[in-house]
This record gives sequence, structure tokens and C-alpha cells, in this order.
Amino acid sequence: MKEVDVILSGGSVATMNDGFELFVHGAVAVRDGLIEAVGPSDELLTAYAADEIVDCSGCAVIPGLINAHTHAAMTLLRGVADDLRLDVWLMGYVMPVEQAFVRPDFCWLGTQLACAEMIRSGTTCFADMYYYEEAVADAAAQAGMRAICAETVLRFSTPDALSYDEGLEHTRDFILRWKGHPLIMPAVGPHAPYTTTADLLRACAGMALELDVPLHIHIAETAQEVEEHRAEYGMPMVPWVKKQGVLDAKVTAAHCVHLDEGEMNTLLHHGVGVSHNPTSNLKLASGFAPVVPMLELGLNVGLGTDGPASNNDLDMWEEMRLAALLAKGVTSDPTALPARQALSMATIGGARALHVSDSIGSLEPGKRADVIVVDLCRIHNTPRFERDRDALYAQLVYAAKASDVRDVMCQGQWLMRERNLLTVDEETLTAEATGIARKIDTFLIQREESVLSKLLAIGQVAQEKTFEVQVKVHLADATPVESLLQNSEILIVKPSLRNQYDTYFLFNDPYRSRLRYREDELLDEDGQVRDVVYRLTLISETKEREYARSVLLSRSRFDAPATRSLRFYHEYFDPVNEVAVHKQRRRYRIRYGGTDFAINLDRPNKPELPGMFLEIKSRTWSRQDAERKAELIGELLELLPVEKPEFVKQEYVELAIETD
Ligand SMILES: [Zn+2]
Repeated sequence: MKEVDVILSGGSVATMNDGFELFVHGAVAVRDGLIEAVGPSDELLTAYAADEIVDCSGCAVIPGLINAHTHAAMTLLRGVADDLRLDVWLMGYVMPVEQAFVRPDFCWLGTQLACAEMIRSGTTCFADMYYYEEAVADAAAQAGMRAICAETVLRFSTPDALSYDEGLEHTRDFILRWKGHPLIMPAVGPHAPYTTTADLLRACAGMALELDVPLHIHIAETAQEVEEHRAEYGMPMVPWVKKQGVLDAKVTAAHCVHLDEGEMNTLLHHGVGVSHNPTSNLKLASGFAPVVPMLELGLNVGLGTDGPASNNDLDMWEEMRLAALLAKGVTSDPTALPARQALSMATIGGARALHVSDSIGSLEPGKRADVIVVDLCRIHNTPRFERDRDALYAQLVYAAKASDVRDVMCQGQWLMRERNLLTVDEETLTAEATGIARKIDTFLIQREESVLSKLLAIGQVAQEKTFEVQVKVHLADATPVESLLQNSEILIVKPSLRNQYDTYFLFNDPYRSRLRYREDELLDEDGQVRDVVYRLTLISETKEREYARSVLLSRSRFDAPATRSLRFYHEYFDPVNEVAVHKQRRRYRIRYGGTDFAINLDRPNKPELPGMFLEIKSRTWSRQDAERKAELIGELLELLPVEKPEFVKQEYVELAIETD
């Protein structure tokens, strides 16, 4: 009799091999971390002697589940912000919190917490993409789990790299240190086409090929991203990614929700694996991935939970069930994506999608011993039928729950026995995670208190103090301004014509903050739009003094480029009120008394107001200079051929800007 370490005996063994072989009273023999044999229980028990024989009667014995796409450490952001649109959720909440909190110890703790949850639910391998992947890899290895760890590279600064060059260097170091580890496979993770550049993708692909590691990337998750890509590059996303050489690497593409048939064929020809993430796609309303066409075409499609901040758990049983149910609903075909295929996607299909099916994904001699035992005797699994052997798959996918997982083994090492975790300390992890959550709560509460801090969290707002002197006069028509500009002491430097569409968000905060979103269309003399600039300006009134004909305001202003949509800002800032002001502005840059001024002549369209508004203003770095400019503005007003100008307000504005 041949010696082995463990025999899992008496359960229904679903091998998930090419022939989907099932052994109703089956057994799996494990030796030195590998599967030695799979077959009928009685045969294995006579052929092998084992140190440990585990009774699996009443249970299913299946390959450990493979989570093909996640961001494990985001367990610590689970529930931080929900029921929001992807951009508001990601750019407004997740990324600012990550910038403030994500450090190696955060990633280690978050990953260990994730490992505890994954082991409990029968996952033995996960494909990760996050920051400080070294900490992720270490946490997974200590938990005894298998992981493909892709270090995220972005075109902008991340919690672990100030630039993408640094990110690439860092990724290379990480890969070189971890390559060859028995449980961890390091990888390159260019986040997505919309968060990288052509050069960056080329560099990542080059590195993956040179170091012979996989490449993990998000592809076509939302319709918006795909449309914007097409508008920017004039071609669909997959051919563009291919052009950068990415598909020459061993690629796993997460999501692939919005692909056309040609793109699916391209992925197939390049052996790209796909991770389908049904819960995340549903929760963020990203759409329905064309899973049935992808599978029919022969693409390797695995299942992933995506990060636990957009799911909000790491439960592969939910993903299996949802994948099967969604495919039926979307195609109006109840025979689409049957249970066996769903289980296959969570096991061997996931292994193929991750390019590791030679070593894991099925119960076959020679493969790594990643095995789980699922209790099928609990009430929601009762009774069981034996007429149709495939009923086992339906039972696992449609009735079983994550909490039915009884025992978990990875590479021959027990990670859970009789629902007791053996490699991670749940109590300590829970206490530490709760501590981090309180800190993040405090951070967000403070940030939400002020419109400025919310603006600072998402915008590239640099703070610099300048002063602005400004006067605003109401006029019946443009005639007085035209004659003012004919004055020989005034030099017109640069006239321009614009349409300005302003939306003011109003807030009930102590500073009476107003946030202006401006779409500034620069027109040529025929009225055609030459250029459009979007800006955000936060105005808070801090002081106010009234004179006979004017009002003196002291304000702080923060200015930033508006790189996202009005809808995004509306959802993110959540104002108490919103006011639209549209006007046509003729702007003259003039020089008077050796100083530059801007003269704006505004014709309001919305709300419709009679006449026009004249604005004369200038910006400067010092208060002293501002006072001199105020005097010059007074002189300009004297030159204005109007008997008694009706001042709207005279503003002496203290500014804090600028931006880039
Ligand atoms: Zn993701």
C-alpha cells in the first residue's frame, strides 16, 4: 500500500476535469501538497494508507474555489459608501480614503481579513489587484492561501507610488522578490485603459513578457468608459489595448461588460482570460456582460467578486448562482449557463482564465491539493436526489451556501477543519478592522463638514493667496462701454466672446458657500465654438461691509479645473439648492494706467434680465497693489459716460487660488 498524507473519503467527488467525472462515493488522496489519486472510495482506501482519513460522507468534495478578480484589502472599505454611481463612489470616496489610509499594514490587515472570509467560504485562490501587493502577498501566504498578486500601476500617483515610473520600478522589484514562491504568483496590474496611457500599457506588457508573469487589467467595465475611449482614440478598447502589445502577455481581463463580437474574437485569439463579476456589475449598474456569447465562443471565463467595497463580500457561491441566474434572465433562456458550467467557472474555468489550469482548478492526480468539503446535509440542502448525477451541481449552485463549507485545504495544508479557521486569528482581525473603520469614519465626517474639504479631496486645488478688485455696474445697453473703450488712455489687448453656462450649488454651511461649475465656451467672431473650458470655483463669503453705493466683500475663492461631469459634482457635493445662470460675455483685456484689467460685458440669458452687466476687475498678489488698482477702477468708472452708474456691487475680493 502506498503511503499518503490524507484521504478525503466517502463524499460525492466532483473532479471538474475535462470529462466532468463524478464519484458518488469517492475519495481524494493527498501527498506532499499534491493530489495523488482520485476515484471511488473503496478503491483508494485499499490502494493507499494515510496518516489521516477524513470522513466526507454526506458532503461534496470539490476543487477549492477560485476568485478570478478581487481587491482583497478593500475588506477594510466594505460599506464605506454605497448606492452611488461608479465615478462618485470611486473618485469621491474610495480613492480619497485610499490616499489617506492605504499603507502596507492596512493592506496586510485587509487581506488577512479577506483570507478569513474566503477560507470560510471555500475559496483557496484569488487574483488580486491592489497597492502594496507585497503586503497582500505576505498576508495571503501567511494565511496559507494561493494568490496571483498584481501590483496596480496607474498614470497618476497612487498610495504606493508618486509617479508611474516609480510604480513600474516598484512592480518589478516586487515580482523579482516573489517569483517562484509556492503559493504566490506576482503579476503586473495596469489598472484599466482609462487610468493608464499607451506608454504605460506598453511598459507593463513588456515587463509581463520579460519576467514571464501574468497581467491583470480591468477592461470595458462601463458603457461610459467605452464611449469615451472610442471618442478619444477612434477605435474600440480591445483593439487599442492590443495595439499596445498588452494581449501578447498572459492576460486576465476583469469585467468585459461592453464588448462587441470582434473584440471577443480578439480576446479569444490571444488566449485572454475573462473574469465575470456579476454582483459588482449589478451593484454598480455597469450592465450585463455577454457571458453566454463569450462562453459559446470558447473564451475562458472565470468568476470574481471584485473588491469587497463594491460587492460587498467575497462569497463565490453568490457569484456562481448569480452568474447562472443572470445569464438565463438576460437571454430569456432557462437552459443558458447551467449549474455545472457555473461551478466550472468558479473552479477550472477560473484557473484557465488565470493561466494556472496546469496546476489547479480540478481534482486530478499531479495537481496541487486545493480541495474543499461542502456539507450537503443541512436543511436547505435536504433531500438529495441520486437519479441524475448532475443534480449535485444544481444542489451546489442553487441551494448550497458559503456557510456549508466545512473543510478547506490548500496545497495539502488544512486552512479550516470543521469550520474552525487554522491559519488566521479572526478575533484579532475583527478588533483591528473595527479600529480602522472608526478612524475612516472620523476622517469622512470631518471632510463632509466643509464643502472646501470635499473639493480638496477630489480636485487638484493648490492654495495660493491673491487679491481681486472688482466692480459691477448695471447698464441699459453696451453704448457707454463702447465709448469708454475708445478712450485714448485705454489700450485693448485682447477681446474675446464667450458663452458661459454657470451652475451654482448652494449650501447651508456657516460660510454660505457657493460652488460654481462653469462651462466656458470661447467663440470666434462668427459665433462658432472654438474651445470649451470647465472650471469649478468655490466662493465663501467671510466679511462684508456696505458703503453708500457699493458693497465690499472679502471672500475666499478656490479654483480648480472641472474634470468630471456636472452630474458627478451634483451627486458628490449634494447641494441644498442649484441655480443656473447663462450669459454671453464679451471680454476685453485692457491696459490702463500701466495695469491690466479685464472688462466683461455680460448679457444674461438665464434668468432673463433687462440690460447688461459691466464688470471691471483685476487680480494681484498684494493687498497694497489691490488698493492701487481699486483707485484705477474708480478712475475708469469716471471715464464711463453714464451720469450716475448704478453699482451692483463693488467687490474687494480676497482670493485663494490657483490650480493647474
Ligand atoms: Zn476590480
